[in-house]
Amino acid sequence: MKITLVRGDITEQHADALVNAANSSLLGGGGVDGAIHRKGGPDILAECRALRASRFGRGLPTGQAVATTAGRLHARWVIHTVGPVHQGADSDPEPLASCYRESLRVADELGARTVAFPAISTGVYRWPMEDAARIAVDTVKAARTSVEEVRFVLFDDRAHEAFAARLR
Ligand code: ADP
Repeated sequence: MKITLVRGDITEQHADALVNAANSSLLGGGGVDGAIHRKGGPDILAECRALRASRFGRGLPTGQAVATTAGRLHARWVIHTVGPVHQGADSDPEPLASCYRESLRVADELGARTVAFPAISTGVYRWPMEDAARIAVDTVKAARTSVEEVRFVLFDDRAHEAFAARLR
């Protein structure tokens, strides 16, 4: 599997699947989530509501992932995953690693070959960037998956540098 880095906006990416740093409500929010729903249009939210009604009445649990259409985005699917909120120095990395693993598992089920990820949990959920980059890169490298390209889409220089440093 090839791992690539780009600095940019995930909603501008062309890929089979774009991963959304969602919250458990699946009803949209700020950051990546807001941008994906704004640009992707109402079909994504409609599918999220249907998923809530059918499978996730209590919300999508942290560390899990589920796919919907990508609406008007340049992708076939959006994979929604819920990152953990950082809890301070003794935060358990496992739920964040699980977001990457589960998103790739869903991508495999769909047959997605190219998957773009944002830096999950590093915005409103306050996960420190260097630690998040370590967890993201190491988990993706260790994953057993048929995905051929994982692209990390980093919104600013600081995020890009943290992921680049971990990849080196
Ligand atoms: P979380 O709630 O998981 O912390 P956020 O969406 O608040 O998710 O932020 C996750 C990361 O995504 C942050 O580093 C933020 O700067 C970045 N980000 C925000 N908007 C975009 C976007 N359109 N494309 C890519 N990354 C983005």
